[in-house]
Amino acid sequence: TALDQPTASTPLDLPGWRHAYSGKVRDLYVPADPAADAAAPDLNAASRVLVVASDRVSAFDHVLEPGIPGKGVLLTTLSLWWFGQLAGIPNHLLANTATAGTDDAAGIPAAAAGRAMLCRTLDMFPIECVVRGYLTGSGWKEYQASQTVCGLPLPAGLQNGDRLPEPIYTPAWKAPMGEHDENISFERTVELVGADVAAELRRLSLETFRRASAIAEQNGVILADTKFEFGADRATGEITLADEVLTSDSSRYWDAVLWQTGTTPEQRMSSFDKQIVRDWLSAHWDQTGTPPALPEDIIERTAARYRELLTRLAGDTPVA
Ligand code: ATP
Ligand code: MG
Repeated sequence: TALDQPTASTPLDLPGWRHAYSGKVRDLYVPADPAADAAAPDLNAASRVLVVASDRVSAFDHVLEPGIPGKGVLLTTLSLWWFGQLAGIPNHLLANTATAGTDDAAGIPAAAAGRAMLCRTLDMFPIECVVRGYLTGSGWKEYQASQTVCGLPLPAGLQNGDRLPEPIYTPAWKAPMGEHDENISFERTVELVGADVAAELRRLSLETFRRASAIAEQNGVILADTKFEFGADRATGEITLADEVLTSDSSRYWDAVLWQTGTTPEQRMSSFDKQIVRDWLSAHWDQTGTPPALPEDIIERTAARYRELLTRLAGDTPVA
């Protein structure tokens, strides 16, 4: 299976495709144009894009070494499952194993099998649409200082890991590669994308979060927070859900029973997500210079938790 393949952390050689862009975790490819010269291919000139999740892992906006074997396949499998659960929310998928039967039939090259999504190229909005249903992480830090999260006032007396009275939308500005994303107010998103789009991004984010939370809870899992990315369809302008969705990279997930019964923050927030990596890194790195290599047991634990989340949510969905 793809999980047994060696860690894929660098762009792949994919017949029929050319590498166009690498983010911290995903590599984007556009259809190879035999007429094109050796110049770097332009993502914006292509209507189709192959989004391939590597095994790279990032934390605090740094790509860490080594990768986590199987992670890219897990992220893509989970994203595809969630897109399938979210009927009615327009998404960027053109074809995938679920609709085409196999990766091959969907036009996905064998070397990227299990880790790729064939998508419409969208005009991405420079906004990370963060929704938080629970108080933790940077939100908890800010709350302790000012009883707010991203400037939004909250009731007094909340503890780390508590459920918020209502899910809140706390957008961030997508910083260019190498810079840190920056929390911004809703008003700032209006300046960036206009009032109508800003309102629609907030509405869609909150609606998707509510639907996903309910599905997660039915499976014994709490969706604490997540980040969506949307883009505009180039032909119709329709606001479309893109990138990865509701994965253990883009979200915090906790065990619902432990959250209820746990007595320590560690028990209540027993993460199915990257928190394991963040916690280890915080304890072993002062965020200057190059981050240290992740030890084997942290890699193993993270991979195991990513696998368990997929099993809990999607049941026996085969991992390619
Ligand atoms: P950055 O965007 O700064 O590189 P990142 O490190 O989070 O951030 P990745 O998630 O690794 O990047 O890469 C995925 C990239 O692909 C993101 O820039 C995302 O906005 C972009 N993307 C996802 N889906 C689409 C799409 N359908 N059309 C165009 N771009 C897309
Ligand atoms: Mg990303």
